[in-house]
Amino acid sequence: MKPINIIFLGKPGSGKGTQAEILKEKFSLHLIDTGEILRRLIKEGGPLADNILKTIKQGGLVPIWLVVFCWLKELIKIPPEKGVVFEGSPRQLEEAKILKEALYWLKRKKIKVIYLNISDEEIIKRLSTRRMCPNCLREYSLELNSELKKTKKCPVCHLPLKRRPDDNPRTIKNRLVSFKKDVYPVIRFFKKEGLLIEINAEGPVEEITQKILESL
Ligand code: AMP
Repeated sequence: MKPINIIFLGKPGSGKGTQAEILKEKFSLHLIDTGEILRRLIKEGGPLADNILKTIKQGGLVPIWLVVFCWLKELIKIPPEKGVVFEGSPRQLEEAKILKEALYWLKRKKIKVIYLNISDEEIIKRLSTRRMCPNCLREYSLELNSELKKTKKCPVCHLPLKRRPDDNPRTIKNRLVSFKKDVYPVIRFFKKEGLLIEINAEGPVEEITQKILESL
């Protein structure tokens, strides 16, 4: 059987990370999370770190050549029989076209694009209660996890959780503006290609997963 290649689209905080992680486990997929790769580059320091941090803090997008480099160097190492799930890419039309071309070139033609649709109000609520471990960079929702709400510590590293630098109200606003300007054309592109599945992503995690599984 040909491996499945899943691309998640959605506003920041729409649940892409959570659902991508669930599908990764369920179908033994390789997860490529562009935002996480960029955060690792910041943590490692080096010549790219300052510019990436500045861009992320402003809620902007890093250049297409850099994100393509981030996901491509992972994608080409994955065994051809293993499926992939993308989270965070593509975010611009040009990146979407390059990603589709790369997948086709690698004979990964079974592609599903899942757009998690959710209101701005819900996003603002979710992102204000999202926290990240400064060590392992895992993300948690204080809203969904009452134990963490009390301890505010990473259950794996036991370090105090922090707010992501881009989860402040001003940056969230910029990221929502950028989503409408940059990601809507991506959504339209995949719709035209007949690859888009739109899911109403408001509601409990399990319910959204169920809708995704049914649609696949
Ligand atoms: P995320 O963790 O997906 O919310 O991404 C965090 C930040 O990383 C975004 O707000 C962007 O600044 C940057 N980023 C992640 N993915 C991309 C992408 N595909 N293109 C450009 N910038 C990106």
